[in-house]
Amino acid sequence: MGELDATVHARLASIVGDTNVLTAAAETEPYLIDWRGSFRGRARAVVRPGNTAEVAAVVRFCADVGTPVVPQGGNTGLCGGATPDATGDEIVLALGRMNRVRDIDPANATITVEAGMPLATVQEHAAAAGLYFPLSLASEGSCTIGGNLSTNAGGTAVLRFGNARDLTLGLEIVLADGRVWNGLRGLRKDNTGYDLKQLFIGAEGTLGIATAAVLKLFPVPRTQVTALVALASVNAAVALLGRLQSALSDRLTGFELVSGVALALSRKLDPALPAPMPGHAWYVLVQVDDSAQDSPIATLLETTVATAVEAGVVLDATIAHSAAQAARLWALRENISEAQRREGPNIKHDISLAVSSIPAFLEECNAALLAAFPRARLIIFGHLGDGNLHYNLSAPEDHSAVDFLDNATAVNRIVYDRVAHHGGSFSAEHGIGQLKRDELLRYKSDVELDLMRAIKRALDPRGLFNPGKVL
Ligand SMILES: Cc1cc2nc3c(=O)[nH]c(=O)nc-3n(C[C@H](O)[C@H](O)[C@H](O)COP(=O)(O)OP(=O)(O)OC[C@H]3O[C@@H](n4cnc5c(N)ncnc54)[C@H](O)[C@@H]3O)c2cc1C
Repeated sequence: MGELDATVHARLASIVGDTNVLTAAAETEPYLIDWRGSFRGRARAVVRPGNTAEVAAVVRFCADVGTPVVPQGGNTGLCGGATPDATGDEIVLALGRMNRVRDIDPANATITVEAGMPLATVQEHAAAAGLYFPLSLASEGSCTIGGNLSTNAGGTAVLRFGNARDLTLGLEIVLADGRVWNGLRGLRKDNTGYDLKQLFIGAEGTLGIATAAVLKLFPVPRTQVTALVALASVNAAVALLGRLQSALSDRLTGFELVSGVALALSRKLDPALPAPMPGHAWYVLVQVDDSAQDSPIATLLETTVATAVEAGVVLDATIAHSAAQAARLWALRENISEAQRREGPNIKHDISLAVSSIPAFLEECNAALLAAFPRARLIIFGHLGDGNLHYNLSAPEDHSAVDFLDNATAVNRIVYDRVAHHGGSFSAEHGIGQLKRDELLRYKSDVELDLMRAIKRALDPRGLFNPGKVL
């Protein structure tokens, strides 16, 4: 350890305690590589504060010595936002010890939690209070609420409840100079000037460190129905979405598109999963929830789907008759990312478009990609109800998957140019991190980039919060 490192280590240890400043390679390793294994960095230390005062003291000290700070929650982000750079000059600020409930207010339907609490634990605390926190991601056992807010996470219930931004009423933030902004207000109406919390949500740790949040809770869904529907085209899926929304309104909580290819891949990973209606080009997993105990949503769903079958919109459908059957249908959808990972490297896109533009986008983009890469496998699935697709390419089965990745830039250009042409976004829910910075420069307007840089300069003038990420 150099002299500077020894001084820094001693000062950090005086703030958070010696055991919470990690420098040994075996201890720091999990914090220095991202979930996908795509980004690896080095760090002067991994620092694990236990409360907001410690975060503020660490940030103040880092500002004094000019040490950059990389906040990290569960390290499940998919864009390298929580991975330090290669210099070894940065510290990783790991928030995982800050995992307490500060307050739960059933009458106001809010919970106040610290930023390092895993998402699944927030859900459990809400349930214990007889309420429901609807944010749900496949990574919920590991990802933290601080990471969820900082990436403005989406997940499977955005259609009904919105993304992390829509679920947040208040925030506590440690600013770049070490001051603490206490914005932990559980208000659903508050028009007292700029809505500051919105700046920090989705900022990926580049503007401040989130230390706590006030989150909205909802009535527990007491009636839940899950169905898998087979369709011939994405056009038909969009038509079905309209029919279900008009019949069920906001009781339609999930509408997940899965291509036949993606479904087959999911069953390859777990052949024990059901294959109720094999051989169709497209499927939609439909989730309908109601807080009323004896809600007629199952009948409403069945009638709407039956009418859609008669109209030629739907080819076939199956409804889960137990929670276990519903979980197995959901596993078909949730398995796809892991199944794709097992198939080897692939080129992924997390895009969003107006739902109405998706059929035309897919027709054009599929044709352009298959013209350029005739044997590539398109793995298409995602939150169609939110206009968000995971639009991925795997190598042909007999092709070296690693060589295939050499095509990533050309593939990305085909996909993102068409997304832009249709007025969509090249990053719907995973953020920018270090993975998509060049795309940000390419696809954001000069005005948008100027505004983003002005906000960064105002809140972090020395650029010490998560440098090299987003901007
Ligand atoms: C299997 C799997 C499925 C996933 N599914 C989804 C999905 O459906 N929808 C979705 O949106 N995402 C999904 N993700 C991505 C990921 O889980 C989310 O981005 C999640 O919100 C990240 O939380 P985290 O605590 O792991 O954050 P990290 O990965 O630790 O950090 C993410 C970013 O937030 C910053 N950050 C973390 N904590 C703080 C803090 N307290 N203050 C300031 N900045 C902070 C980091 O610096 C980094 O830039 C998935 C990931 C996996 C592995």
